[in-house]
Amino acid sequence: MSKDHLGLFDMPLERRQVRTGIAIVGVLLTAFFLILPWRAIPLPEVGAFVPMVDSIMLVSDVIAATLLYSQSSVFRSRALTVLASGYVFAALLLIPHALSFPGAFAPKGLLGAGINTTAWIATLQRLAFPAVIISYVVLRRIDAASPPDPNSEPRIVASALVAASLALGVALLTTRGHDLLPAFYVNRADLSYFNAVAYQTVSFVLLSTAFVMLFRSRRSVLDVWLLVALSSWMIQSVLIMLLHRRFTVGFYSLFVMLVVSHLVVQLALIAESNRLYGKLARATAERDRERDSRLMSMDALTAAIAHEVGQPLTGVNLNARAALNWLTRSRPAVDKAIGSLYATIDAGHHTMEVIKSIRSMFDKGATTSTRFSLNDLVRETTRFLEGELAGERVTLELALDSSVPAIVADRIQIQRVLVNLVVNAIESLRATQGRPRCIAIRSMPLERRAVLLEVSDTGLGITPDEIPHIFEAFFTTKEMGTGLGLSLCRAIVEEHGGRLWASTGAHSGATFHLELRAAA
Ligand code: ADP
Repeated sequence: MSKDHLGLFDMPLERRQVRTGIAIVGVLLTAFFLILPWRAIPLPEVGAFVPMVDSIMLVSDVIAATLLYSQSSVFRSRALTVLASGYVFAALLLIPHALSFPGAFAPKGLLGAGINTTAWIATLQRLAFPAVIISYVVLRRIDAASPPDPNSEPRIVASALVAASLALGVALLTTRGHDLLPAFYVNRADLSYFNAVAYQTVSFVLLSTAFVMLFRSRRSVLDVWLLVALSSWMIQSVLIMLLHRRFTVGFYSLFVMLVVSHLVVQLALIAESNRLYGKLARATAERDRERDSRLMSMDALTAAIAHEVGQPLTGVNLNARAALNWLTRSRPAVDKAIGSLYATIDAGHHTMEVIKSIRSMFDKGATTSTRFSLNDLVRETTRFLEGELAGERVTLELALDSSVPAIVADRIQIQRVLVNLVVNAIESLRATQGRPRCIAIRSMPLERRAVLLEVSDTGLGITPDEIPHIFEAFFTTKEMGTGLGLSLCRAIVEEHGGRLWASTGAHSGATFHLELRAAA
């Protein structure tokens, strides 16, 4: 079975997405070269411009962080948690950035800001982005090599708190600690050029390192959009190095590019999430249909057998009773009794014929034997039954030994057996109260090329009196049971040269043992 691609970070790349990403970078580069000759032209100061742009980016970063956190909690990924927290950090810094921008809310900015406050906030945000991407690439390798993070929820809360504290620290440092930091501006409009170039060089080097690392390990849709965002940040760094003043064509264009680099990731995340969930919904509907048809085939088969066999069996009963009546009269009518007994035998034969014909119908599938892994079949079948298990709040434990050899059998028929055993276990658990509801399925290799599968439950269990009868046709302890499931299962297993038997659990419940021959 093909692996389900459930997360954005795990969806394979498609050419279309790569092409769109390259096209956006192309547009940004063209814009950069078009702006270059005009960059120094002064434009009027628009007080509302920076807060407006900051609020757009704030909303966009919060959405990106929410989407990434939800993916990281589902997939328990440390890498996505750090990436999402990077967005939280960037989003929170936009608040002091807008408030402290000179001329936005107050001539010198709020929060006791100095002339370098916003430049430092923007620079630290700019340095954080590549640092977060580098951690994302490294943690993704760790994620791939280790089991899913068991503490993903507390880790998400902790890392969001760390991001918020860092943002608060940066806000305090750049406002209260303003004078401790080197200068960016000589006055509220003119840059201290040497410093600006030095910081942008550091940021450019970090951004290119992150770009190269992510590019070399790229594998998902998310990666493409992060690469686009990194490219946009790099173009901005170069632009800043060529700017000398605020409130110029270059200055306003820089903010437009900033918006693009913030928006691009989460617009792509939203679009890809919708596409992904559409795909998942279709796959789930398909799986449900397939599952229903397989479950129904078992139901339909047992109902048909009950119906077909029921009629001749009624004949057996009636004739046997009649024979008894003839013999127990005060003057027994032996001839008539013999006649009834012959009719009983005929009805018995007829029952056998019906059973044989149903068996031959059932046999048809045996010709479609394939080689497959019993472990994979167990995983697939239990996925089919997820709804039933969850509905009865049953915990499923799979202990599937990877050294179990492949078997050659009719996959559908063996799946019928499995479905029947698990559904019986669920029904047995449904009848219990006040104890853990658990089904455990174990597989193990046996000597002499055989495979053993055990299905245990913590349900009602089977009494020693019942054990010899449960595999007999029509034996049932259920009000609505047909008593045919286990007898059919044993027939299927024996036709495959295997064995199926039951035992009572160590403390409670029942265990069914299925032994099959391994492929030669
Ligand atoms: P049905 O489910 O229609 O009764 P089956 O042949 O599948 O027919 O099962 C026969 C009987 O075996 C059940 O009625 C039940 O008494 C017993 N049985 C089967 N599975 C279990 C189980 N997991 N735990 C306890 N009893 C079971």
